[in-house]
Order: sequence, then structure tokens, then C-alpha cells
Amino acid sequence: MLAFISRFGVGLALGHVLPRLPMLVVTRGKAANARFAPHPAPVHLEPHLTARLLLMRRLWWLVLPASLIPMAFGAASLVSGNAAFGFGLWIASGWTALHRLLALVKLDVAPVRLETAQRLQAVMDRCAGDEACCAHPVPVWESEAVRCAACRSMLDPMPRPDLGRPRSDPWPVRFLRLWVADGHAMLLAEPRPPTG
Ligand SMILES: [Zn+2]
Repeated sequence: MLAFISRFGVGLALGHVLPRLPMLVVTRGKAANARFAPHPAPVHLEPHLTARLLLMRRLWWLVLPASLIPMAFGAASLVSGNAAFGFGLWIASGWTALHRLLALVKLDVAPVRLETAQRLQAVMDRCAGDEACCAHPVPVWESEAVRCAACRSMLDPMPRPDLGRPRSDPWPVRFLRLWVADGHAMLLAEPRPPTG
């Protein structure tokens, strides 16, 4: 019974991790992040950030086709290999695929959307134009919102999703956070107290 549960558990864990592997590793290298401030420092709004957001969006959606591979292995193992391992693998990767399919119907479930990049562009445009918050605006994306680093004005109440920068936490915690967050912001946007 214990062997059954442990094989099922291993299958379950692999079924969750394998489809997310590109999302968890692709952008984490030092060279890939040389242009960005280290996590968790605020990130300056600039074209490299927009490019990174679009990459994170692609990696998030890549999970859907990537989950089909462990699903197929799980099904094969269920039929003619280790049934407990195969069932765990199949159910976890199937659940992952289902989660992404539901996101296709309800797009605002995805942590990074085209709208995210458009909102950042709108902030950059405002800062460059006459509606700027102050004389020398420095728009940065903090963990819970986009703010001006010069005058501290809130420019967009959008929490920062996972941008793929390596985290400073110790390894197991870092991996667990990335896995559990699934690309989403780890903080919820807090309503700002009314000013004035
Ligand atoms: Zn400002």
C-alpha cells in the first residue's frame, strides 16, 4: 500500500512539474536577467520589460501543449506499466491541461496578458507626455503596483507577476514558490487609502 501511494505521489509531482519546466527554468539564468534589477527590486518600465512579459506569456501558454506529453506517458504507464505511477502522472498533467483550457475561456486567469503590456505602455506614454505625474517621472513596477520612483504617485494598481528573474530565496523555497504561484503575483493588490 505504501509503495502504491509513493508511486502515485511521484507520478503526481512529475505531472505537475514537467509541463511547467520551461516556465520554471527558461528565463532564470543570470545572463537572461542582466538587464533587470535583481528580484525583488522594482523593475523600470522599458521595452526589455515588455519583451520579457510577452516571453513569460508564451511560456505560460506553452504549458498546455507540454502537458500532453506526460499525459500520454501517464496513459501508457497506466495501461502497460506501473498503474499507480501512471495514474498520478496522468491525473496531474491532465489537471494542468484543464486549468490552461479553462484560461482559454476566461482569459483574465492568465498571469500575463496582452492587456498587461498595453497598460504598461499606456503608463510609459503618459509619463512621456503632458499628463506626467511630475517633472522627471521614473515609472517602476513594484511588487504590488506601478509607481513613479521620483514622486511615489501610483500609476497603475497592477501587481507584478513573475517576470522570470531568479529569486533570492533558498533553493527549495524558491522552487516551491515558483511552482505554487504558477506565474502569478505573490501579493494581492491592496486598496490604497484615500489621500487628501
Ligand atoms: Zn512622478
